[in-house]
Amino acid sequence: MPLSDAGTVHIIGAGLAGLAAAVRLSGSGRTVAIHEATAHAGGRCRSYHDQATGMLIDNGTHLVLSGNHAVMSFVRTIGSAAGLQGPGEAEYPFVDLADGAQWTLRFGDGRFPWWIFNKDRRVPQTGVVDYLSLARLAWTQSDKPIGEVMTCSGPIYERLLEPLLLAALNIAPRGGSAKLAGALIRETLALGGQACRPLLARAGLGHVFVEPAIAYLKARGVSIAMQDELVMLHFNGRRATQLDFAKHSVPLAENDIVILAVPPYVAESLMPNLTVPNSFRGIVNAHFRIDPPAQLPSMLGVINGACQWIFALPGRISVTISDAGHLFEMPRGELAQTLWREVAQVTGLRSDALPPWQLVRERRATFAATPEQNARRPAAETNWSNLLLAGDWTATGLPATLESAIRSGNSAADLVGLRLREAA
Ligand SMILES: Cc1cc2nc3c(=O)[nH]c(=O)nc-3n(C[C@H](O)[C@H](O)[C@H](O)COP(=O)(O)OP(=O)(O)OC[C@H]3O[C@@H](n4cnc5c(N)ncnc54)[C@H](O)[C@@H]3O)c2cc1C
Repeated sequence: MPLSDAGTVHIIGAGLAGLAAAVRLSGSGRTVAIHEATAHAGGRCRSYHDQATGMLIDNGTHLVLSGNHAVMSFVRTIGSAAGLQGPGEAEYPFVDLADGAQWTLRFGDGRFPWWIFNKDRRVPQTGVVDYLSLARLAWTQSDKPIGEVMTCSGPIYERLLEPLLLAALNIAPRGGSAKLAGALIRETLALGGQACRPLLARAGLGHVFVEPAIAYLKARGVSIAMQDELVMLHFNGRRATQLDFAKHSVPLAENDIVILAVPPYVAESLMPNLTVPNSFRGIVNAHFRIDPPAQLPSMLGVINGACQWIFALPGRISVTISDAGHLFEMPRGELAQTLWREVAQVTGLRSDALPPWQLVRERRATFAATPEQNARRPAAETNWSNLLLAGDWTATGLPATLESAIRSGNSAADLVGLRLREAA
């Protein structure tokens, strides 16, 4: 089939899954059109100018690990890899607010987790044998709650696995999916320090993930329609036949393909009989407008506090709390003050001098990473020959992260090529 007959690929949703699919398809000679419901791209990974603090802030500080190969490849392609910054080696400083203890996990720079055999690099109070639980989790066969696969207590759990898994799965790890935790461990911790370097978009998520992607796509002729919400899909037999947007309709030609890269609850409302994750967990981020003290590491893990991670960013200190449902009803001022007191305790800044602040509470930050919810994730392929799914919630085998979103977009884009070859 000549590419001029290859039809249009309509991508619904300009989150990272939709953008990744578009980046992979752009330049393929096919017409690609993105339709986004809101006025901005990026979805759950976005920056915005906050009037209360006068700062550019992220909806949530996003941590990427150097082993997230789809993320790394995405930013290299769109030309923004330099914006993801972190220490030269995989280092994770921690503080325990209960007793003031401080330690730094240093995973080294290798391709194998040699740090486990070095008592100066291991988690304090742990021995090599304690790390067998990591191996058990990494190669777990059936999906069970993590609490059924390993002991969720003791130094290795409390000082390594709990903070890392809570951040990556966005759920108290005990009830989290052992399979999802296992995938994460196999792709990062088990591959040594080279795969575990923590990377942050220090100048903002928009500068690294969104604006360069939009510029890349526009330069390759991809059309991006904002405030273009898909409200209904029409079907006939095994095909989707028409897209109804809020303000116009698009009949689908024979070779047109649709990639639905919207959140699960939207996909469920647009497609009949689709099983999707239907339970979610929230994330709270607090941003304080203040220059971080020089001694504050760019990322600090906090044990036994309301804060879980404290980030030192240009002109601000940010705090992240995963699985934060318990904080959603707390009055905003009280929560900001509580978090600031802990920041002050750690940094030596004055606890009674609350800087200008903003709180971002994302109720449905990710699907709940339990075995039950993981089993509800659909494949990219659907019952309709010209309709594909993408999103961090589809069956990527990973927790709901940027890596999962981008891989899902890549897979959907690869399936477009396959479908069109089959149709030729
Ligand atoms: C606070 C927070 C912190 C996070 N921290 C991390 C982290 O540290 N590391 C990490 O890897 N991941 C993190 N994540 C997860 C990461 O942000 C997501 O996995 C990723 O952004 C999901 O991308 P997506 O494209 O699958 O979905 P989304 O970003 O939800 O994109 C879906 C898009 O579809 C659009 N849409 C919805 N309905 C329609 C419609 N009817 N028509 C057209 N468009 C529509 C939406 O507006 C949105 O733009 C975090 C998420 C949050 C919320």
